[in-house]
Amino acid sequence: MTLVLDVKNLSVELPQSSDRQYAVEDISFSLGAGEIVCVVGESGSGKSVTAQTVMGLLPRELRAVRGQTLLQEEDTLLADPKRLRDLRGTRMAMIFQEPMTALNPVARVGEQIAEVLEIHTDLSAIERRKKAIEIMEAVHLPDPQKMVDSYPHQLSGGQRQRICIARALAVKPEFIVCDESVSALDVSVQAQVLNLLLDLREEFNLTYIFISHDLSVVKFISDRMVVMNAGQIEEYDSSDVIYNNPQKAYTQKLIQAIPKGEIADIERRLKVG
Ligand code: ADP
Ligand code: MG
Repeated sequence: MTLVLDVKNLSVELPQSSDRQYAVEDISFSLGAGEIVCVVGESGSGKSVTAQTVMGLLPRELRAVRGQTLLQEEDTLLADPKRLRDLRGTRMAMIFQEPMTALNPVARVGEQIAEVLEIHTDLSAIERRKKAIEIMEAVHLPDPQKMVDSYPHQLSGGQRQRICIARALAVKPEFIVCDESVSALDVSVQAQVLNLLLDLREEFNLTYIFISHDLSVVKFISDRMVVMNAGQIEEYDSSDVIYNNPQKAYTQKLIQAIPKGEIADIERRLKVG
């Protein structure tokens, strides 16, 4: 099986004054085509740093000091800024927690999707607008012909997140990182967006890293799970194994912390399970 992403022995160093030396230390995991690997763990455990490293978006004060992050065998740690910009968009994309801050408040949502097409394709302005409407349809936004000219504040939170997903998919990357992408949404909207992500996986052959501090969300979508604790991997296995038979006290605690009824609630709203 070809791996879409192979993270090997990655260590990212924190600034000197920090409470620990590494944001992530000697972590390894991989994703095959079409897989959803969920990265879970407490706040500060290193989930976002892992995502940022893979995407080439590490803040300046953090440094990947060891290891490799191979995107279809190309090490993104060795890619120059131009190559990384190229890869982001065409091969990999990221969807963040807060669509309101990810979007430009004073630009029409259609333009924000078309902008990605302008950077990465030779399409004309008219073709870009047409394409933006098509992608908005693909993420099941209502009345894209009209919504294409809306501003972010005119949309609901769930709709805004769909715009971010549309923008991420604009140039058809095969690999998507979702960093707490549904955490800011209401439970019912969460389930809708999760269903959409699952549908899009089929339609566009996507591979996801799905980051969440919320294990109830992760349970129904993950093939495998990486459990992180203070920058290290506690457990890495199929999610069935981890949910049904967690080996480490840390993982057991995370699972026990899921509010009663929440898993049933999400399961009821999701098509899967
Ligand atoms: P989370 O699992 O909540 O996403 P992060 O990956 O954001 O955790 O953070 C991992 C560790 O790295 C934390 O200890 C955090 O304080 C530290 N860290 C993250 N970003 C920075 C930064 N820009 N400067 C200093 N420390 C940071
Ligand atoms: Mg985070």
